[in-house]
Formats: sequence, C-alpha cells, structure tokens
Amino acid sequence: MATVLSWHKPVLQELAGRRQSERLPHAMLLTVGSDPEATALAAALPHFMLCDNYNACGLCRACRLLEQGAHSDYHRCQPEGSSKVIKVDQIRTLLSFGAKTANYGAGKVLILAPASALNRNAANALLKFLEEPPANTYLFLISSRTSQLPATVMSRCQKLTVARPDPTQALEFLQNRGLSDQRAHALLRLASNEPLLAIEIEENDAADALIGAVSVAEKVLAGEATARELGQAAQGLDAHLLLMVLIVNAHQFAVAAASKNTLNARLLQWHKALVELQGTYHRSPNINIPLALEQLCVNIR
Ligand SMILES: [Zn+2]
Repeated sequence: MATVLSWHKPVLQELAGRRQSERLPHAMLLTVGSDPEATALAAALPHFMLCDNYNACGLCRACRLLEQGAHSDYHRCQPEGSSKVIKVDQIRTLLSFGAKTANYGAGKVLILAPASALNRNAANALLKFLEEPPANTYLFLISSRTSQLPATVMSRCQKLTVARPDPTQALEFLQNRGLSDQRAHALLRLASNEPLLAIEIEENDAADALIGAVSVAEKVLAGEATARELGQAAQGLDAHLLLMVLIVNAHQFAVAAASKNTLNARLLQWHKALVELQGTYHRSPNINIPLALEQLCVNIR
C-alpha cells in the first residue's frame, strides 16, 4: 500500500466517498503544498479510487493489482527522466488510455502530477479531454503551483485545496523520520510548516545556508542589505530548494503582516516575483538564480 500522509487522509476519504456515491466530476484540480506532496498524493489516490471497498483495503483484487503496478484502469502522467515538463506525447498517450473501455467496475483513473509541469502544447492537447470527457473516466490534476496552469485548463476542472498539516502532524512526520524535536522545529520554521520541504532541506544538508539566505532576503526588503548581498548568499545553493524556501517564507510574512493590518506592498510584490521566477526556472533550469534574485531586488525597490 502506498504511504498515505496523515493530513491527506480526510481528502482521500472524501474523494472515495464521492466516487462511491457517483458524485465525482470528470476532472478535478487538487492543490497541495509542494511537488513532493503532489507525488505522494498521486501515489495514494488510485488506491482509494479503484479499491473495491473504496478505502485502500490492500486485500481486494484492485488493490493487489495496483500494488503490482498492473492495474489496467489506472494511468499516471509525470515528467519523464531528467525532464521537468510533461510533454504533448505523454498527453496523447493519456488521451488514448482515456478512450479505452474500463476493464473493471470502478472506471478509469488518470492522474497528472505535478500538473504545473504541463508545457503549453501538452496543456492544449489536454483541453480535448476536458471539453469532451470520456465516460466512466476520472482525471485528477495535482499541483502545488496552480497559478502556473493555463486558465483554460483551470476553468474546466472542479477545484479542491488539500488542507495543510497542522503543527502536530508536521512535527510527527519529521519525528517518525528520526529527527530530534529541536531539529524538527528548526526545519519546520524554515520550511513554513511544510514537512516534505523540511525533509528535502535536511537531506540536502542545506538548512544553515538557507536560513542565511532567508535572513538576507528579509534585510533586503527592510532596506538593510543590498541586492548584491542576496546574490552572494544564494551562490552555490540548490536553486529549487532556495526558491521554495524564499516563497514559503515570503508567503508567511505576507500573511502575518495582513493579520496585523500592515499589508506590505513590497512583500506582496516580492512574493509574486519569486513565484514567477520559479516558473521561469522550471521552464529553463539553466538560468542563473543568484543573478536573477539580485535583479528582482533591484526591480521591486
Ligand atoms: Zn481494496
């Protein structure tokens, strides 16, 4: 049985209930906190949708077939090899799978995750499915960056935001991975309570350098450090992790400021610019992130 993250259980049970009572739409967009979380939800979801008992029992024929990777009514689409994008050929394969008749009673389940990896041509090809969904077929797009999806795709999916882990669930997740209380708290602060991001930071041994970069970014926004200093702090850091951490922290500060009615326009501008830079990075992974960050700081002055 695929690992189920504790905070995903309610949404998986809700979707299984809707499937069982035939209230599931043909296309849903599920928003999660990070790409690794999209991967985890994508792995667990078919077990709840196709299980004869709709509860990932692990015992029925459907569960056993899924376990062996041999369930013929399930298809998953994700970036292949070293690619960061889902290509149009993969969507064509998905569409031809959708056009086939289901072999078992529970219908066909198609999963696309992370959906923000769809390139433009792939997204256009997917529209055909969304406009004329085949019978007895359920498509799930799972993404942590729904704002990067084309509006034409978004508007044709029923949307559901997966609840974030509460602090206890997040802490338990890290403790179960063998981290001390103190370490877990420090990582969760840095990762804005996103446990999978916290684990990725720990595995990359990047916590100290990232804490440094976040602190310089805060100072730049407060006018206490220069753009150049942020560029220097960003040197040598894993670009994917750095952008994730800067984004979750900018989001956290913006939420905190809004709750005190001190909405900070520069902070919102900074958050938006970071999300855009992340999109650019996913399309062109070779861009120089330290330099791009310096440029962002100059632009939002
Ligand atoms: Zn089962």
